[in-house]
Amino acid sequence: MKYAIISDIHGNLEALTSVLAEIENRSIETTLCLGDVVGYGPNPNECIALIREKATSILAGNHDHAPIGKLDTSYFNPWARSAIEWTRENLDDVAVRFLVDLPLKREIDGFTIVHATPHEPGEWNYIVTIGDAIKNFPEFKNQICFIGHSHVPMIISLDGKDNCSVVRDNPLEIRDDLRYIINVGSVGQPRDYNPLASFGIYDDEQRTYELCRVEYDIATTQSKIRDSNLPVFLAERLEVGQ
Ligand code: ZN
Repeated sequence: MKYAIISDIHGNLEALTSVLAEIENRSIETTLCLGDVVGYGPNPNECIALIREKATSILAGNHDHAPIGKLDTSYFNPWARSAIEWTRENLDDVAVRFLVDLPLKREIDGFTIVHATPHEPGEWNYIVTIGDAIKNFPEFKNQICFIGHSHVPMIISLDGKDNCSVVRDNPLEIRDDLRYIINVGSVGQPRDYNPLASFGIYDDEQRTYELCRVEYDIATTQSKIRDSNLPVFLAERLEVGQ
């Protein structure tokens, strides 16, 4: 089966629509969402409605918990905090009820999905270094754990002698003798200096993983952000992917 694994949509409807079109073009049966459906972007309710329709499993991210009072906003930087306040004021009741019950971590058909880290997923720590990965490999039993949260795509492997390495192959041929933590990047606010929307495709029969990047109408998202009185920086960062 092929799985599309998407994360960090952040209320960016144009990016989400383009990614879902690509998933449909490639005839991928199952879409999984690793959280942060809302926060930063101008269309939180629309993104929730669309992802509920298209994804078979949806996890909570820190930006899904903050606007509904499940996470203290002092944790966030000023732009994020002001976007969270905006999101709180603009979420409809259906969206709030939906966000309350999302799980933090799941096992799906022999692999693990989580927004932030397999270890203490509700602490919202990051896996960005080899050291972070070494701490987290013992915290899931499956061969592969897919994550989001940093908005930077990355693959880290672990061999049988506890050596971790960053893997840059794309597509990746999954080796039976390695375990992997794979960050699928962000649909709605990429931060690896590539503004294209990011998501992953995992094929458990072919044993491959591919990082995909798709164009979307950034100018429309930017003008919606400016018209919504969200911080202008949140519009500017989209075109540089930062
Ligand atoms: Zn995020």
